[in-house]
Amino acid sequence: MSDKQLGFSTLAVHAGGQPDPATGARVTPIYQTTAYVFEDVDQAASLFGLQAFGNIYTRITNPTTAVLEAKVAALEGGTAGLATASGHAAQLGVFHCLLQPGDEFVASDKLYGGSINQFNHSFKSFGWNVKWADSDDLSTFEAAVTPKTKAIFVESLANPGGVVVDIPAIAEVARAAGIPLIVDNTLATPYLCKPFELGADIVVHSLTKFMGGHGNSMGGMIVDGGKFDWLASDKYPLLSQPRPEYQGIVLAETFGDFSFAIAARVLGLRDLGAALSPFNAFLILTGIETLPLRMEKHCANALAVAKYLKAHPKVEWVRYAGLEDDDSHALQARYMPKGAGAVFTFGVKGGYEAGVKLVGAVELFSHLANIGDTRSLIIHPASTTHRQLTDEQKTAAGAGPDVVRLSVGIEDADDIIADLDQALAKI
Ligand SMILES: *Cc1c(COP(=O)(O)O)cnc(C)c1O
Repeated sequence: MSDKQLGFSTLAVHAGGQPDPATGARVTPIYQTTAYVFEDVDQAASLFGLQAFGNIYTRITNPTTAVLEAKVAALEGGTAGLATASGHAAQLGVFHCLLQPGDEFVASDKLYGGSINQFNHSFKSFGWNVKWADSDDLSTFEAAVTPKTKAIFVESLANPGGVVVDIPAIAEVARAAGIPLIVDNTLATPYLCKPFELGADIVVHSLTKFMGGHGNSMGGMIVDGGKFDWLASDKYPLLSQPRPEYQGIVLAETFGDFSFAIAARVLGLRDLGAALSPFNAFLILTGIETLPLRMEKHCANALAVAKYLKAHPKVEWVRYAGLEDDDSHALQARYMPKGAGAVFTFGVKGGYEAGVKLVGAVELFSHLANIGDTRSLIIHPASTTHRQLTDEQKTAAGAGPDVVRLSVGIEDADDIIADLDQALAKI
């Protein structure tokens, strides 16, 4: 059976995996090894020279991790995956392949707060310069592109507000500029959104969130869409120029439609070192088997909670793309019709004090800085993740004093709502 004909739920269970060739074990074993014995000197030489595929050292490849890479690539409809130690390591790995010091990239300003920090601070110290654009005003993407721009970066379903980004429109800007569009598909997952079908060239994930789905393992993934022509310009020398350490091969010529994933592995992982632990790969693989079931429940629960909050007298506003009068609803219906995800924000009447009281009064919800767990999670950004900002900066970042963010879990909707109800009654 070819993977292409199988449905999403079948791929979530089966793609990438097979009974263990050595033992028959049905579930992918944890290959908890650092290195692999060479067959002979010639095989070792061809592995090191990239003339044959095989395992050398777990920083670069591992059989458990390889199943995870193949599974996520199949779910996204990409050509190859490259697993990393975290979502941030995936972003570092992508930009390491694309940018030289002094280069620029354009990013939507509606991003996970950690990505805003990574781009503004650490990336700048590498000489990689971010230009921010506004996903509500597409002309700002075009305006931010210069001859030094090497990529555009957006989130499909943007953290923390659950804002849906118009990927095809931004892909058009990238295509006109001859640069790849990178989409962070963490909040949507490929169950809700398929960025490659909408024009993305590279997908990145924090597997830490809904993909792993159980709040127990950090992980990241780069997925190669396989369509971008790295040889069309001289903008991407890591892919288009001969590699001196690999007998002068040109990665984009030798590896064709999965050359970006190869570059991120044999240059990025090799030198930056942020490899995923095989144990985490195993846990995330187990999590992904139930991704479709979990996402359906997450979305149904989130919609029920959003509707409940919208009607509550102590709630000022709710921002959830699944609500019919939400600004993002039309884009959500077009690009992710199966649901609007589980992460959204609302404003509580009474501002900062009320927000602090609410997160202190919940019992079923956990007050913590994460999303995408089976459990329902809550945070008040103004008193936690965004507390160092001024009030104006908080509001601009979507983290005003009254804002509460939920990641709705897969418990019974009635219990989730009852917990919010008792907590709201206390403020
Ligand atoms: C959490 C997150 C990241 C970073 O991933 P880590 O696994 O925490 O490094 C990146 N993007 C989004 C949208 C996230 O939610």
